[in-house]
Amino acid sequence: MSNIKHIYKRPPKGSQLVKVESRFIAYDLPNRIGHQKPTYIVIHEVSLGTGKSPKEYNMERYEKKITEDAKNGSDIGYHYLVGDKKIYQFIEDDVSTKHTGTEFGNYNSIGVERLICEGVNYEYATHNQAKLIATLMLKHNIPLDNVITHKEMQVRYGTDDKKSNPKQCPNRMLAGFRGNVQDFKNEIRRCFLYGWFFTELLDEKQIMYIPKLQEITRKTILSKNKKREYGIGLENLSYENDKVYIKKK
Ligand SMILES: [Zn+2]
Repeated sequence: MSNIKHIYKRPPKGSQLVKVESRFIAYDLPNRIGHQKPTYIVIHEVSLGTGKSPKEYNMERYEKKITEDAKNGSDIGYHYLVGDKKIYQFIEDDVSTKHTGTEFGNYNSIGVERLICEGVNYEYATHNQAKLIATLMLKHNIPLDNVITHKEMQVRYGTDDKKSNPKQCPNRMLAGFRGNVQDFKNEIRRCFLYGWFFTELLDEKQIMYIPKLQEITRKTILSKNKKREYGIGLENLSYENDKVYIKKK
């Protein structure tokens, strides 16, 4: 934990006000394949499977597409799309959709796509993706071990075919471009350490659990939770009068 490298830059002040916007696809679309209680979060990149995206493959395109798809039918089969300045939620967390190419993954996980294309700042989008995943972990009580790549989901839960030839997603992260999967997970840890969450997705009680730096210093979290997978350890926290405390053992 103490060796966390600061890989990704946080977006500048103004854009830290980025909010997750709801753009739910129509309720009768076939990509809503059932209900779920998510226990995994899957890391994706929108890369058309090639690691490259055409210039027009951007948030504006999605905004237009989703408006049309909501009326006409849709091939949006994942929950969130994350850019540097915008984040959309297309499908509710408790609704299953076909984003992993595996039966297990589709019915047990939330798919978080990060947009890569010209004009979208790679680092800021990656930071936003980590912050969104930290938020979903807190919301659904999902451990960091259960945050896995699309590829890893296929290796673990795919058919033999998929296991031997898994989709290389998230393509650039797997290739180690501006940080690898471990660096990304460290960025998620940083979100827990510093209390970076998209609070609009959390209920009041969950928001109260977010540690405020003035009450819990980074050092305190590290020393109290040495063996924990990530910084907070909700069961070790209590709150009173708007302040978060670490429970005495
Ligand atoms: Zn993917």
